[in-house]
Amino acid sequence: MKFDLHSHSHFSDGILSPEMLVSRAKEREVDVLALTDHDTIAGLHLAQKAAEEHGLQLINGIEFSSHWGKGGVHIVGLGIQTDSSELNSVIDSQNQARANRAEQIALRLAKAGIAGALEGAQALAGNAYVARPHFAQYLVDKGVVPNINAAFKKYLGTGKSADVKYQWPAMIDVIGWIHSAGGVAVLAHPCKYDLTRTKMCALIKDFAAAGGDALEVVSGMQAHPVTEDLAKIANVNNLAASCGSDFHFPGQAWQELGCFPSLPSQSRPVWELLGFAA
Ligand code: MN
Ligand code: MN
Ligand code: MN
Repeated sequence: MKFDLHSHSHFSDGILSPEMLVSRAKEREVDVLALTDHDTIAGLHLAQKAAEEHGLQLINGIEFSSHWGKGGVHIVGLGIQTDSSELNSVIDSQNQARANRAEQIALRLAKAGIAGALEGAQALAGNAYVARPHFAQYLVDKGVVPNINAAFKKYLGTGKSADVKYQWPAMIDVIGWIHSAGGVAVLAHPCKYDLTRTKMCALIKDFAAAGGDALEVVSGMQAHPVTEDLAKIANVNNLAASCGSDFHFPGQAWQELGCFPSLPSQSRPVWELLGFAA
């Protein structure tokens, strides 16, 4: 069976609808897919319906933002109950915090002489909550900056005029929310936080100590030695191993549904914690 336990739809920063995502996963011979949109479960219902139609198993998931020290980290929740009241209330408050942040970014842009940014960014966000990339795109579309990078360099990046700080929740809280909804907490893509190996190991150790259950040992296409190393680190910390593409949109071969190396044989697959046989 092929498991892809990390993917996004247009309910967060992916481009496909949940239905299109499921049908693409089916084409790529994925048997079990987790939809893990950032801070929202809004797409899961549609994805479940589509999965039934396509004869594919869908795992209810979410990807929460958290922090470790000064840096952001992502924690995926797998097998969550979408009717969990605690989960729903933290999602609401996270979205409220994001909305407040978006308003403040727009205010600062207005002070810099750029009007209509909130409405413009909202229009670009569609089903998803407004985030900095939408503001960046708005600035590009308005001709204020030539490209997305310039938007961050000039306005939205750290220390710039429209940089509004946001304190993500602690790992221990996020793990608690996931557990309260009956889910399994996975530290996502450990190599993407720009940490030295020593720091990454410290992060993973802290995640395990905070009650985390699994490490994303495979995230999209990655080199064999990386997979072997992460598998070892997971085992040392008594963490199960997860794998997923982190698919956002077509055309990125390194993040395509179902396209990534298998978990090493010494790993304990996270799906055993989700009720799937070995
Ligand atoms: Mn994303
Ligand atoms: Mn992520
Ligand atoms: Mn992701």
